[in-house]
Amino acid sequence: MKALVLEEPKKYSIQDLPVPEIGDDQCLLKVRVASICVNDVRDYQGGVNWTYPRIGGHEYSAVIEKMGKNVDTHTFHVGQQVIAFVLEDCGYCYSCKHEHGNICDNSTKGTFYYNEGGISGFKGFAEYVAMDARHLYPCPDDTPDDLLSLTEPLACVLNSMNRSNIEFGDDVVVIGGGAMGMLHVLCAKKRGARVILSETDAKRREFGLELGADIVINPLECDPVEKVKELTNGRGANVVLNTTAIPAVAAQAIEMTAKSGLCNMFSSIHPNEPIPVNAGRLHSQEIYVTGTQNGTRKSFAQAIDCISKGILDLRPLIEKIYDYTDVVEAMEFASRPDTYKVLMRFSKGE
Ligand SMILES: [Zn+2]
Ligand SMILES: [Zn+2]
Repeated sequence: MKALVLEEPKKYSIQDLPVPEIGDDQCLLKVRVASICVNDVRDYQGGVNWTYPRIGGHEYSAVIEKMGKNVDTHTFHVGQQVIAFVLEDCGYCYSCKHEHGNICDNSTKGTFYYNEGGISGFKGFAEYVAMDARHLYPCPDDTPDDLLSLTEPLACVLNSMNRSNIEFGDDVVVIGGGAMGMLHVLCAKKRGARVILSETDAKRREFGLELGADIVINPLECDPVEKVKELTNGRGANVVLNTTAIPAVAAQAIEMTAKSGLCNMFSSIHPNEPIPVNAGRLHSQEIYVTGTQNGTRKSFAQAIDCISKGILDLRPLIEKIYDYTDVVEAMEFASRPDTYKVLMRFSKGE
């Protein structure tokens, strides 16, 4: 099979590798479409700690090519469209036992990040992937495979939504108008909120309005904390969803959260410098500051439901679909700050 091997930052080679062997409880998946995550872009640009060579790709749609002998034939069949829950939650650690498998204590112990002497990565940038059947979600066969490749990013956002308790009539601030920010805009609108998008780029603000944001603000032209207070009778926003990595913005996110409101650090923070927090205000105003990481098993199922039932239309977020053989072009395009989701096609349905 062909696989996209990132030998070192900025150096992709398309290699012929053996098709993975499957165990009795596994399925061999034929990858249809893989979407490029910001993490794949970081791997490509360099500056991460993971070992190379890597085969990235954790946002992909696939069909079952072959089934191990123990795989339930009532649930699965060859040719079926499926999505893989890409995190290998071990199932036995403290976090997994408490239904927090998305932050499994053993999540970095497999080969996703470190594989001395071998190939690390999630391995979705290849023609075939072996996956335990317990990680698979059956999907309707008529759901477009390019939309389904966005299941993982949507699942991350739905995990954020599930923790955010947005109520009808709430003011919700989404900070950052990248792909994850726009997914938050779409989801918060569905929850009945007035959505305020804070974004520095004019084109992205315009796009945010097209996707349903009610108000857009430019944090370079105003004090975003003051602006949000001005828009909300001095209260601040009921829910603030921070999708940017900048520490100073994280501090502002907490500052613009209303009394008894919630602020979610959705993005990882780079560089992760501590920020000043007014702890007295958190106390006296009962403000809840949290974070969310990854999708959960439940939010993956919800993401597939939202995509396959047409509840959320993610089509506008798909910027371009490349053939996988054009991986370098696709990575360069995805590296540009003005692009949304860039996809690569590995195979087509009949
Ligand atoms: Zn991702
Ligand atoms: Zn675990």
